[in-house]
Amino acid sequence: MAAQGIADSNADALAYFRSLDHGEMDEATLRAFVAEAGPALSFLTGVDAIRLTMMPDYPDYYEDRPGAKTGGRSLDNELFDFGTLGLWKDRVFAHGPAPRMMLRETPLGGGSGVVDPAELQRRETEDLRGWGQALVGRLLKACLDRGIEPVLGCSGYRLSLDQGRVTGAIVERGGEQETISARNGVILATGGFEWNDALKHAFLRGPLEAPASPPTNRGDGLKMAMAAGAGLGNMTSAWWVPTLAIPEAQWQSGETRNMPVLIERTLPHGIMVNRTGKRFCNEAANYSALAGAFHAFDPATYDYPNLPAYLIFDSHYRERYPLSSIMPGAPLPDWVAQADTLAELATQIGVDATNLPATVNRFNDQAEQLDDRDFGRGKTGYDRFYGDRSRDGAAATLGGLTKAPFYAVEIRMGALGTNGGAKTNAQAQIVDVDGAPIAGLFGAGNVISAPTGSVYAGAGGTLGPALTFGYIAGRAAARRVNQ
Ligand SMILES: Cc1cc2nc3c(=O)[nH]c(=O)nc-3n(C[C@H](O)[C@H](O)[C@H](O)COP(=O)(O)OP(=O)(O)OC[C@H]3O[C@@H](n4cnc5c(N)ncnc54)[C@H](O)[C@@H]3O)c2cc1C
Repeated sequence: MAAQGIADSNADALAYFRSLDHGEMDEATLRAFVAEAGPALSFLTGVDAIRLTMMPDYPDYYEDRPGAKTGGRSLDNELFDFGTLGLWKDRVFAHGPAPRMMLRETPLGGGSGVVDPAELQRRETEDLRGWGQALVGRLLKACLDRGIEPVLGCSGYRLSLDQGRVTGAIVERGGEQETISARNGVILATGGFEWNDALKHAFLRGPLEAPASPPTNRGDGLKMAMAAGAGLGNMTSAWWVPTLAIPEAQWQSGETRNMPVLIERTLPHGIMVNRTGKRFCNEAANYSALAGAFHAFDPATYDYPNLPAYLIFDSHYRERYPLSSIMPGAPLPDWVAQADTLAELATQIGVDATNLPATVNRFNDQAEQLDDRDFGRGKTGYDRFYGDRSRDGAAATLGGLTKAPFYAVEIRMGALGTNGGAKTNAQAQIVDVDGAPIAGLFGAGNVISAPTGSVYAGAGGTLGPALTFGYIAGRAAARRVNQ
């Protein structure tokens, strides 16, 4: 960052996180994350396990907070050549077409979304991939180069313990049970519990109906840690994101895929309304924090009035912007409701047919004045970042719904993963209910209580802590800190 003229420091980063803390952050693990993120990046870059480029214009999600930066803390993956993975090329989990662009080339990352067709063809031919595929591909390559080969089709479900020390994991492979011994310790990295109904109902503060992550995240590692006596932290929370179900897209195991709704609710000519046909939030706000509005509970009706919600947009939107992977002008699937009037649209989707036109009229007036007096949409750089940046100021996100036909899709509350789990200390050792390390047990990623609590403070807000705690855990296990 310094090379690009952006000043930052651990003190600024800590001040930023603390300004967002509502009591759920653990000071020791937060400090460990901030202190070790740089060394983790240097180490992983040094062994060519990651190649990241700083994004100087990608803003922190709360620019008005102490220590916040208007850019530079979020990173983008360089393209990775999947051909170098050999047989492993087709074993990397992928859904949909491989991403041939880098984040910074797309509207989501501040780019135009246009790459020279010849260059795109080259990337296709050479199987160069960006985004998460590049991250996972390069990490995997670094392992394979060192003779470390993942074992597939092998599902852990219990830890083996000897006099309180974790000595291995009990796994199921090909229908058989096996115990794998671990000399230095076990590092749990099995992701969150967003696909486990029992754990979700037991812990989360509100509904998480439509996760965007793969259905393999069933909280197995969390249960393994709990059975070994782990203390828990941050259990009510998740990396929330509003999602859109795509009925024709399914995971291999049959579940419907839920796509994060990021730019669609921020672009002009669209709003979100609840079941009564009223707006209930700044649609352009941080996706994870938005869950607070979706989870509002009405004591009078004893219900969640904002679940599900509806994204309403008009023909100006359709002519200019995509809806998930549906490009402007492309035919719409039948799960997108459409009607010539807002009242008809409301009736189709079961929303109050008097309120919806009134809500749109009110929004249109405020959009024309570029002043969302109801929810303040468009007032921050973050609001505008995911909008249409060919338009100036608040117009990047504010634009009226004036042109028929009108459209609606159902929006539910999902998550990129849960972020509560086994509590750790600053060495990534999982601790018991009294805070004492469980010998031989470490954790990283969404299986542990996130060092940043429930706060999604900027792009990379989940992967940064996960990579850093993976690095801390690996080093700690290698040092056999528990002996
Ligand atoms: C669409 C989408 C976009 C995202 N974009 C971003 C982003 O831009 N920035 C960001 O920071 N985060 C992003 N995230 C979130 C990020 O991907 C996750 O937070 C992160 O991958 C969590 O890492 P993890 O290692 O904890 O778990 P995961 O990456 O979920 O990996 C867990 C692994 O454990 C395996 N597993 C589960 N149970 C078992 C078992 N019993 N035995 C063996 N293996 C098991 C799973 O199959 C999986 O391979 C995104 C998520 C989604 C879904």
